[in-house]
Amino acid sequence: MSTAPGPTGQTTTRTEPGSTDPEAVPSDSVREEYQNLADLVRKYRFAYYQEDSPLVSDAEFDDLFRRLEEIEALHPELVSNDSPTQVVGGEVSAAFAAVEHLQRMYSLEDVFSLEELEAWLGKAEASVAKIGNGTAGPAWLTELKIDGLAVNLLYRDGKLVRAATRGDGYTGEDITHNVLTIKEIPQQLTGGNYPAEMEVRGEVFIPSQAFAEFNGALIEAGKAPLANPRNAAAGSLRQKDPAETAKRPLRMYVHGIGAREGLDTVSQSDTYRQLAEWGLPTSPYFEVLGSLKDVLAFIKRYGDKRHSLTHEIDGIVVKVDDFATQRALGFTSRVPRWAVAYKYPPEEVHTKLLDIDVNVGRTGRVTPFGVMEPVKVAGSTVGMATLHNQDVVKAKGVKIGDIVILRKAGDVIPEIVGPVLALRDQQDPPVRDFVMPTECPSCGTPLAPGKEGDVDIRCPNARSCPAQLRERVFHLAGRGGFDIEALGWEAAIALTQPAEPDVAPLSTEAALFDLTPEALADVRIRREKRSKGVATGEFELVPYFWSKGTAKTPSKPTATTDKLFRELEKAKSQPLWRLLVALSIRHVGPRASRALAQAFGTMDAIRQASEEELAHVDGVGPTIAAALKEWFAEDWHLEIIDRWAAAGVRMEDERDESMPRTLEGLTVVVTGSLPNFSRDEAKEAILLRGGKAAGSVSKNTSYVVAGENAGTKLDKAEQLGIPVLDEDGFRELLANGPAAAPAETEAGEPGQVSE
Ligand code: NAD
Repeated sequence: MSTAPGPTGQTTTRTEPGSTDPEAVPSDSVREEYQNLADLVRKYRFAYYQEDSPLVSDAEFDDLFRRLEEIEALHPELVSNDSPTQVVGGEVSAAFAAVEHLQRMYSLEDVFSLEELEAWLGKAEASVAKIGNGTAGPAWLTELKIDGLAVNLLYRDGKLVRAATRGDGYTGEDITHNVLTIKEIPQQLTGGNYPAEMEVRGEVFIPSQAFAEFNGALIEAGKAPLANPRNAAAGSLRQKDPAETAKRPLRMYVHGIGAREGLDTVSQSDTYRQLAEWGLPTSPYFEVLGSLKDVLAFIKRYGDKRHSLTHEIDGIVVKVDDFATQRALGFTSRVPRWAVAYKYPPEEVHTKLLDIDVNVGRTGRVTPFGVMEPVKVAGSTVGMATLHNQDVVKAKGVKIGDIVILRKAGDVIPEIVGPVLALRDQQDPPVRDFVMPTECPSCGTPLAPGKEGDVDIRCPNARSCPAQLRERVFHLAGRGGFDIEALGWEAAIALTQPAEPDVAPLSTEAALFDLTPEALADVRIRREKRSKGVATGEFELVPYFWSKGTAKTPSKPTATTDKLFRELEKAKSQPLWRLLVALSIRHVGPRASRALAQAFGTMDAIRQASEEELAHVDGVGPTIAAALKEWFAEDWHLEIIDRWAAAGVRMEDERDESMPRTLEGLTVVVTGSLPNFSRDEAKEAILLRGGKAAGSVSKNTSYVVAGENAGTKLDKAEQLGIPVLDEDGFRELLANGPAAAPAETEAGEPGQVSE
């Protein structure tokens, strides 16, 4: 048995066919499963290609398609000419004139793992060897798989005469008028020596940034945003009115050739060079590689920077470069035998939005979040995603009970993109609107709108709302705050909202450093029972800070509780900036806190400073200055500082006057991981020597210190010609200033354009 996401995104169990023997006659149940699957695939293809409005995620579709292929492999007699595996997806909509391609357009064979890719390339190499085309293995043209819409451009004597969608591969839709609105596509080729006739194939897409801006404008105009750049590009290009297409930020990269007359290029890469010379938009991201190792490295490299590219990609395409070998390998009924698409793990899935709940944050902000049927996306299982505020819920147009598109791009937090509207009517129970509560779900205080220009709704009971206190306690222990590892999310709950006793050990963070292990002896929390690591849905009350105790061994503080008290003691002498972060002052994060600590040196000086003086500090500014004054104006806030000070928390930085100010006036960016400095330690070292530790690279950056796995910041530094240092160079710089630091380390690979 294996599992696949069902049509609603939830995981369903799938049955294996009755037999694994390819010769066996398929049973009725296999025939039925096959027929149902084929119908479903056709239905999903129609929604995707004809209506630009998919009913399921690509991952779900790919899974169904694979299943179909599996059954066909076991029971070849089920395969008919119109089986979905034998035809290229897509038909011609009645809204457009049908045009026949001079040469058929194909799809691509997909592989979903590096092992499958390796096997595919190995098989292709063996076929090439059999054909005897050259002694060495083929050169692989490796490029990005653009997530857009396939288009066929027909040029005659250098003039664009027709543009069509792929359709079923034989016949496409005439979209010439719409394509003419895309400035990047030349209506007349430049240079000379054009072929008499040439079909150029490529992908029309919307760049990610332009898509975000376009969607932002739609939301502002009160319209529903578009689901993703691929569907947006397809929808834009298939508009009936070209004037409407012209408004969309469409671009194109060409990646293939169909019929040709008078074109004498000999390979894919040679053709790209020639097409670029004629003014056609070719992608800058392709390489001709000689080995599997190089192909895998290409996949890894672009997997890492997938989200900093100008457009979305869903994989990497690997093609035999040489045309003679391509011709010798030929095509199946649906795909070329000389190319393969490796698909990255899916980042968009569909799932059911079970509910919209609200969370009360550290500063009282009430944030709606979606509770979903848990689903696997980009490597992790996601069951919740923030919806930010009620305007966002409205703008996204989601209702409770909808099937929604959930997106998780790399390490970015998961996002609910929007509903699958076509499925809304089928939901049972029917979908319903989200209504923002009027009272705080944690303390019952009537909620208040934020200040003017602030869309957020807040719980005004900042001091004693248990939810706000819990969030503040969790935050103050964070890595950027006091860095108390033993005070995690559950411990914050145990301290502020335990199941028992009725009165929480902490009713204000002012008392944090007055806590004693004894005061925590009876604290219990409610925790879900697990069986073999799996949640059972049943809950129990468990002691949190003390061990259970038996007749023989009396209950006592656990090792984690001992650690908590040791860490609390250590926290008392953390630097001033960490103390400032720990106070949960609005807008005051590590950057502003460091700037304040550096400028004023003591808590008292910050408290006494005027708004103007605060605003003047580099890295602070008027908004943060106002937030600071507002914060210090509250008596209960001052009580926190006073009680912490009384408990021994250090309220000033000891300035180390002996430290040489070697970095005075320099801005240094640290990226990647260094062997002997944590990110915080590196920053601290820069600040202590009078330098500025910045988070992003600009032309004002003096140095970039790059450790292992340095990403786009390193690329940017190389682009801007900013000196890049490794750890040794960094140590030199810290010790002796810029005169001693090596001017520059190795530059990036030449030739590759990064956007
Ligand atoms: P495909 O998208 O997997 O690959 C073939 C296409 O890739 C080509 O036609 C070409 O246009 C495009 N492509 C992009 N970059 C390319 C490059 N550098 N070189 C060559 N071609 C490049 O195959 P398909 O048949 O177009 O569509 C199938 C895929 O579409 C499925 O795997 C699925 O992800 C998606 N789909 C989704 C649904 C749904 O309901 N969600 C339905 C149908 C299809």
